Amino acid sequence: MTRFQAPSGTRDILPPESGRLEEVVARFARVVELAGYGLVVSPLFEDVGVFRRGMGESSEIVRKEMYEFEDKGGRLLALRPEGTAPVVRAFIEHQPPTVWKAWYVTPAFRYERPQAGRYRQHHQLGVEAIGSADPDLDVEVIALLAGFFSSLGLERVELRVSSMGDGACLPAYRTALRSYLAAHEGALCAEHAARYRENPLRVLDCKRPSCRQVREGAPRLRHALCEPCAAHLARVCAGLDALGIAYKEDDFLVRGFDYYTRTTFEFSSLALEAAQDAIGGGGRYDGLAELLGGRPTPGIGFASGIERLLLACDAEGVLPSRPSPVTVFVADVAGGSVARDLTHELRRAGIGCERAFDGRSLKAQLRLADRAGARLALIVGPEEAAAGAVTLRVLRGPQAGHQERLARSGLAEAVAAWLA
Ligand code: AMP
Repeated sequence: MTRFQAPSGTRDILPPESGRLEEVVARFARVVELAGYGLVVSPLFEDVGVFRRGMGESSEIVRKEMYEFEDKGGRLLALRPEGTAPVVRAFIEHQPPTVWKAWYVTPAFRYERPQAGRYRQHHQLGVEAIGSADPDLDVEVIALLAGFFSSLGLERVELRVSSMGDGACLPAYRTALRSYLAAHEGALCAEHAARYRENPLRVLDCKRPSCRQVREGAPRLRHALCEPCAAHLARVCAGLDALGIAYKEDDFLVRGFDYYTRTTFEFSSLALEAAQDAIGGGGRYDGLAELLGGRPTPGIGFASGIERLLLACDAEGVLPSRPSPVTVFVADVAGGSVARDLTHELRRAGIGCERAFDGRSLKAQLRLADRAGARLALIVGPEEAAAGAVTLRVLRGPQAGHQERLARSGLAEAVAAWLA
């Protein structure tokens, strides 16, 4: 018989690693909810047009990486490769009051070549703030991501900031860049020599040495920004300076999706290999709502990859696994009824407890208690069961080895007092 495995590029996240994932999400929620962002949960699949129109037909992900399928009703759908377009689709659909501040945690699906830190299903945390073009909102959003990284204990983090311009200045820049690239076509990598006309900006993002060299002499968008875009960028930089958030301006920062306008930013971990050092990024997408059929509405957001964050935390030695909330182990060698009832009672009293099943020996049960990390064992043998009592044994801490008998009635209070 075939033994199934998780599909290539995906993986199972098991305890204790999943506990760290929970902790990352909890810290993120704390940081962004303090700034008024509320959780939005929307479908994992959307009409394929949400992504094709939102991210752009020529974007790498739409061209090569989307999980698209036709459902039984003949609708063409796609698993979400990212979180922004679905949130903007939801914004247009529900028309909440602006500024609408949403956060999400979601799997993202991309048919990429699997490698360390790069998966076909990864998990993203993100925010979107929709309905304001104020550059101070850009500062808020960037500061939230920086604050979240600090809350995890990450220190070796670098922020790069740029501007993609807007409809007034980007087209002219694109034309200028295209002409420059045409003059250097022979020096581009094969992929970009074939594709630069369609989307010249992607060349700036190419990691191959040939394109990197061509890029050095390329015109810079920063020098081609129209006055309002230049003023916007200046205000964002002034805000980051005011908040003491270190950054570098990066003329060649190109985010992968077509929907970006004006501010773009990316955080890298200096503790990770360059191929997977991107730990979060985002930007403005003032044209996205319109692309998805809504009224023109500016917005900005970011996404951060949880797997990458955990790698960065490992590399910096921060965010240890959370201790298990199981503090008590009921070791019942008198038939199991006491374990059944007592665990229920203790859990209802808010005390984390575990037990064994299948009538294990006391020795085996105490081994399980140790593995569970319990501080106290409540031992029930025939004698205790007959007397309506349990034997409390301290398993960890300065009093380890101490034993005493406790009455079964009022036991939850007595145990809570021991744990306090
Ligand atoms: P992006 O939407 O491409 O900017 O991705 C947002 C964040 O998700 C990145 O900064 C990475 O941390 C993470 N990420 C993107 N693609 C992958 C992937 N294939 N596997 C793991 N993490 C990823």
